[in-house]
Parts: sequence; structure tokens; C-alpha cells
Amino acid sequence: MLLKIGNKEIDCKIKVKKIKNAYLRLNYNYQLDIILPSSKRVNLETLLREKQKWLKRKVKELENSVNLFDRDSIYYKGKKYRIKVIKGKNSRIEFSGDLLKIFKFGKRKIENILLEFLADETLEYVLKKVEEFSGKLNLFPKSVSVKKLKNFGHCTKDKKIFFNSKLICLPTELSDYVVGHEVVHLKHFNHSKDFKLELAKILPNYKEAEKQLKKYCW
Ligand SMILES: [Zn+2]
Repeated sequence: MLLKIGNKEIDCKIKVKKIKNAYLRLNYNYQLDIILPSSKRVNLETLLREKQKWLKRKVKELENSVNLFDRDSIYYKGKKYRIKVIKGKNSRIEFSGDLLKIFKFGKRKIENILLEFLADETLEYVLKKVEEFSGKLNLFPKSVSVKKLKNFGHCTKDKKIFFNSKLICLPTELSDYVVGHEVVHLKHFNHSKDFKLELAKILPNYKEAEKQLKKYCW
């Protein structure tokens, strides 16, 4: 089923799940998931009419979003670089003006060289930042690591923190926000008022960062 929102054609996929109420989710490829409860009938037309305003807003957000990572370019600490691949004697990465040069050696895939570089850079960055915030709030994680994640970061109940291995692509103040957010989850495992008060101790401008972060995707 195709929906038209503004000039955009939205492809819809219906899923049925054991949930109480229907909800919608707009993905980065402009595909709309319509998740319906298995226990009751939902009038699709009414649901879409009710969600029209929300959907328009989401499409607009997506249209204004910044893609941090694509085939020809990449963001690093919020700055955009064009990717240039060069044959080299070893695999490495170098910055030069607005170019990010990937020296490729042997059979190593370009994407893997780049992902490994970003993961290394991200880990170095988040370790430093977690240490800083942990010291200020007296909240210490059991471990900090980076991995492939859909989200920016993730904190488990047993106090392990994970960050998206491409976090270093974001502008620094937004990476800081993500780190601060996960550190505060060590104390408050929710987004309550207390969570926000704690977050404001290390990041007084956290609300602006939250807003900005919505623009970015990969
Ligand atoms: Zn959270």
C-alpha cells in the first residue's frame, strides 16, 4: 500500500503483534510500519487519519535529516568529508582538507577499513568522556564498549554501556550528550524527572542536544 504525504510516497507494511494498541513507525527509508494488535480489529483508514499530523511531521523531520554515512561521503565529528579511495602499501585513513582518504591494501574491503577506523576513534572518545562524566556524578559502569547498534547508545541493567561504533561521526556536543545520557542511566533506568535533573548536572543544554540529535541518521 502506498500513501502520499506531500510529494513523498510512503510505502506501508502491516504487521500484527500481541500488543494492546496500534502504532506507527516511520523508518529511514520512508517505509511506514503499521503495527496492529492481534486481539482486536482496527479501522486502518481511521487510524491513518488520526495519525496524519504526526506522519506529516515525521516525514518533514526525515526530509531534513542528515545522513552521517553514505557511499561517497561521511561525517566525522560533525564535519562532512568526501571519501577518496587510494591504493596504498598498507590500509589506513588520512584527512586532507575536506577529503577523507582511504588507503586500501590487498583484499580488505573499503567499508571494513572505514568502520574499523570509526570504531577505534569512537572507543577512544567515549572512554575519555565516560571517565569524565562518571567522575562528576560518581556513577561508574561495569564496562564500556562499542558495537554495531541501531541506536546511539545503550545501557544494560547490569551497568554495561554500549555505544554505536559510528558515534564519532556526530558533532562532538551530540556525542557528549549520548555519553552523558547513558552514564545517567546507571542511576535512573528511565527518562524520569530525576533522570533529567541528573543529566542537567553535566549537560545543562541537554534539551537542545536532544532536539538536534533527531536530525541525524546513518
Ligand atoms: Zn535512555
